[in-house]
Amino acid sequence: MTNEQKNCPYCHNTAMSRVDLISDSLPDNTCTVWIYQNSLMAQSFYTDVDLDYTSTKRQTIHYCPMCGRQLDDE
Ligand SMILES: [Zn+2]
Repeated sequence: MTNEQKNCPYCHNTAMSRVDLISDSLPDNTCTVWIYQNSLMAQSFYTDVDLDYTSTKRQTIHYCPMCGRQLDDE
């Protein structure tokens, strides 16, 4: 593992400390993408007066897109 891979903030995420790959917020809509273990996570969160709606999708990936570290090797 290279130093870049060892210190990559994106693929060593825990529930307590998460660094998002992409995060975009509007007043009533938030979209976030992050890496968790060996999965790419994508979540959209929509807030309305009557309804809060969260949609989360998970896709298994084999390498971190930022540092190239193999994720299913842990
Ligand atoms: Zn990484």
